[in-house]
Amino acid sequence: MKVNCIILVSIIMHIDNIKKTITIVKDYPIEGIVFKDITTLLEDPTAFKATVDLMLERIAHLEFDKVVGVESRGFFWSAPIAYALSKSFVLARKPGKLPREAAEKHFTLEYGTNSVHIHKDAISTGDRILVVDDLIATGGTATATADLCKELGATDIHTLCLIDLPHLGGSKKLAEKYGEVITLIDY
Ligand code: AMP
Repeated sequence: MKVNCIILVSIIMHIDNIKKTITIVKDYPIEGIVFKDITTLLEDPTAFKATVDLMLERIAHLEFDKVVGVESRGFFWSAPIAYALSKSFVLARKPGKLPREAAEKHFTLEYGTNSVHIHKDAISTGDRILVVDDLIATGGTATATADLCKELGATDIHTLCLIDLPHLGGSKKLAEKYGEVITLIDY
């Protein structure tokens, strides 16, 4: 009975209420960054389910073969999407995490630099990809991941992020390069 109630509430949970479950942390991890902490969203079972359900609704028109989840906060959304749609789930990981031969791409973050790595045999020529992350700021992470997928043979790449910071222009640039970028919440 309790489970049924959670499912019903999640269907009608509005995006504004989901947004309210995200905690804003000023000056983290460095001064000047307004960090969007989604751990409080994940801790709220109704908001977590409603978010995944909304994402599934928003990507329903897309055709893709594989979901590429970006470490680590992208995994919370990419795994349930791949599971729900019975799609192949590919990991885009930080340096030193993948055990087999991987391709890599370096990029600049809103704070600092990093690189993204994908197993070379995880993506094949002609694959249609959905890149999934929690937040798009400058777009460096998502663009590097999409570039890497393309280098490995992907032909059609879309992106889904829970949060967009549109004033930083990352989602716009990524959409110009690769096509549709779907986001649920703007700040
Ligand atoms: P970017 O590469 O600049 O688009 O940054 C996106 C990546 O950095 C995502 O994987 C986010 O998890 C993280 N990130 C960047 N800025 C923030 C922020 N203000 N709050 C939370 N996460 C952020």
